[in-house]
Amino acid sequence: AATEPDADRRAYAVWVSEIMLQQTQVATVIDYYNRWMQKWPTLQALAQASLEEVNELWAGLGYYSRGKRLQEAARKVVSELAGQMPRTAEDLQKLLPGGGRYTAGSGAIASISYGQATGVVDGNVIRVLCRLRCIGADSSSPAVIDRLWDMANALVDRSRPGDFNQALMELGATVCVPKAPLCGECPVKQHCQAQLRVEKELAFASQKLFGKATPVPDVEDCGKCVACSSWGACHGTPQYLIVQRPSSGLLAGLWEFPSLPLAQDLQAEHCILCYLPAALFVCLSIPSQVIHIFSHIHQTYVVYSLSLDGDVTLDPASSPSRWVTVEEFHASAVSTAMKKV
Ligand code: SF4
Repeated sequence: AATEPDADRRAYAVWVSEIMLQQTQVATVIDYYNRWMQKWPTLQALAQASLEEVNELWAGLGYYSRGKRLQEAARKVVSELAGQMPRTAEDLQKLLPGGGRYTAGSGAIASISYGQATGVVDGNVIRVLCRLRCIGADSSSPAVIDRLWDMANALVDRSRPGDFNQALMELGATVCVPKAPLCGECPVKQHCQAQLRVEKELAFASQKLFGKATPVPDVEDCGKCVACSSWGACHGTPQYLIVQRPSSGLLAGLWEFPSLPLAQDLQAEHCILCYLPAALFVCLSIPSQVIHIFSHIHQTYVVYSLSLDGDVTLDPASSPSRWVTVEEFHASAVSTAMKKV
């Protein structure tokens, strides 16, 4: 895209490729794409084509309505938008066939063609993110899809959003494939919770084989699991990190889980990403909400959990902190709201 100076041409070219790639492999698409772009290099050219011509070129690519809708949308851009492609993912969604947030393409066009820092969630990305975060819930449910969009929007590289999105989609298409993913060659395997879980289970199985098994708690019994859709593989007695609140203000001096105040117009995940490296960010659970009413304040907590393994060094310069078991937590100076959390 970088070699095409005209933003409308850039967006059109990415758009055609995105629509062709929706249900078809890259290898099959390349030849169709090249012929299409040769015949209709601009939106204006496509708008003038007949449906007959479009269908002829599309023949063999399958899902013919894609070609027809592409041409109809091109006509709309030419007649209603003076030939100018919308410049944001939000406006593109309104134009692209199907409409709505889930329309594949709008995020890809906006990030690749215009450099907008917006995420993409297609079938491949859904699989990759669910595995990275070991999400066991139904990945077609609107709640999970919404969370994946939040995650994709927060994770996307601000300086190279188009490259980031293409890399994520490509990872799903070539490495993190539906059956037999190539985890050994995966560039993000060290961040992958699903892979970690598999490794642990293999290690446990081999320990068992040699009669050295130590009891592994069932994941359901791993402390207070706040999000049933997130599986934290946990061995031994889980401990929780708590930090001490400042000595003045609300709940002064009490202990709590690490917390951030969330401005009303900010998404929680954007806020967290300022503090947490991306490698840990992908391991966060699906959040749950806890509402607590103090005497004069309604407080809503958006609660994420993050399982860590091994030694974690805490920054002694930040607020006092310690690791506690569930029992120690309940015996500590913590508020009722934190107990709910
Ligand atoms: Fe997918 Fe395996 Fe990579 Fe995890 S390690 S993202 S499961 S390919």
